[in-house]
Amino acid sequence: MIPNDPFSCDDYPGMSDEARIDKPEEACGVFGILAPEEDVAKLTYFGLYALQHRGQESAGIATFEGDRVHLHKEMGLVSQVFNEVILKNLPGNLAVGHTRYSTTGSSRVVNAQPAVVETRLGSLALAHNGNLVNTAVLREELLESNCNLVSTTDSELIAHAIAEEVNAGYDWLEGAIRAFHRCRGAFSLTIGTPVGIMGVRDPNGIRPLVIGTIDTGEDGRTKRYVLSSETCGLDIIGAEYLRDVEPGELVWITDAGLASFHWTQQPKRKLCIFEMIYFARPDSIMEGESLYSYRLRLGRHLAEESPIDADIVIGVPDSGIPAAIGYSQTSGIPYAEGLIKNRYVGRTFIQPTQKMRETGIRMKLNPLKDVLGGKRIVIVDDSIVRGTTSRKLVKALRDAGATEVHMRISSPPVTHPCFYGIDTDSQDQLIAATKSVAEIAKQIDVDSLAYLSREGMLKATGEDPQSFCSACFTGDYPISVPEPVKRSKLILEKVASV
Ligand code: SF4
Repeated sequence: MIPNDPFSCDDYPGMSDEARIDKPEEACGVFGILAPEEDVAKLTYFGLYALQHRGQESAGIATFEGDRVHLHKEMGLVSQVFNEVILKNLPGNLAVGHTRYSTTGSSRVVNAQPAVVETRLGSLALAHNGNLVNTAVLREELLESNCNLVSTTDSELIAHAIAEEVNAGYDWLEGAIRAFHRCRGAFSLTIGTPVGIMGVRDPNGIRPLVIGTIDTGEDGRTKRYVLSSETCGLDIIGAEYLRDVEPGELVWITDAGLASFHWTQQPKRKLCIFEMIYFARPDSIMEGESLYSYRLRLGRHLAEESPIDADIVIGVPDSGIPAAIGYSQTSGIPYAEGLIKNRYVGRTFIQPTQKMRETGIRMKLNPLKDVLGGKRIVIVDDSIVRGTTSRKLVKALRDAGATEVHMRISSPPVTHPCFYGIDTDSQDQLIAATKSVAEIAKQIDVDSLAYLSREGMLKATGEDPQSFCSACFTGDYPISVPEPVKRSKLILEKVASV
């Protein structure tokens, strides 16, 4: 989710379902750096600051000063959780950081990360992006061996599984690899230890993780490695993108440099396509280009697939804008800014009035009457999840004088929930799981509605379509999900047939 998303009416306690953001919500951002010459806590702070869109519930940093670990984590945005004094109290040679949106475990500080666990070799601090699908089994195994679990997150389970293996006599690498073989699901991890940092991706590489290098020291001649969920976390601290951590790869960063291990024999890349469509920042690089460029192409494909006669194309800020520009370029219909975002609303704890809630979107998004008045409009957005805010948006455009409103969506209909670390609600909450495109168009009151095809979405990547997870559009889950977990979200389907 883009921070301060225009539709994010989730800024006040006690919000109604109707008022909640109508977007899938991202799971987490992770970061890690080893650089004894630098203030690693401060660099991690800025890395997390750039990854804030991946989770806004809590943030945390753990630093290692030799064998000593320093940890600070709290509920809130990165800028609310840390200040200069707190960062000064986090000295060390290396750091891992985390920003969280809860997909497993409730929103409480005990579930904030990094998760710190003691082992016979010293502490480990683990930051996790993704979701395990075998949480119940792993939890049971660990409880049987009297493991002291303090949170309700799957991330803590991974940390304890590593500790258990290390305590059984394995070294950091062997212990971690043995633990990863006990985990099923999506996990991109940064793990701090007294001797180095690990960067790890699950065999499918569902969530992203990249490696960067940074020149450190007074003469700027010492090259150090940085790990980040996205390249925007490297850019902000002046690090250079080196490469992705590969699916099924473990990189071990120590004073000696970077060593790579392929910990599984069966890596099969299945990057989450929603990272590219919406979650990751448009200035992040994936598949060798900025996501802005990919999203522009989505808009072009959309214009080819679903043309319409109109006077202007507008995008829903911020995430719908690149696709709107692409749609305009291919259709020849002029692009205009028709919705202005109130960028300084931020998170408020003051409840809006009932009338404001009913009008819905205007707190964060205001239509420009003199741009929209008397015009036939194509409005482009990246997705519709529940459909709750779309109707309000269309009404606001009509109230501003639009004579026709045609909605174009730069991804296919979301029909299935995600089990790999994205909060898309249960299936019955997804509007496209229960309604046809024509019925959705009627419900949100548009003159026409069209989604990009799955083929168009995948073709725009320029990559092998098999190398992406697109299960929320198809129900074809690349990592099998245990029946009880499926039942929790796949409410409309005969679970056994999925
Ligand atoms: S199910 Fe959808 S949101 Fe989840 S990993 Fe796959 S593509 Fe991404």
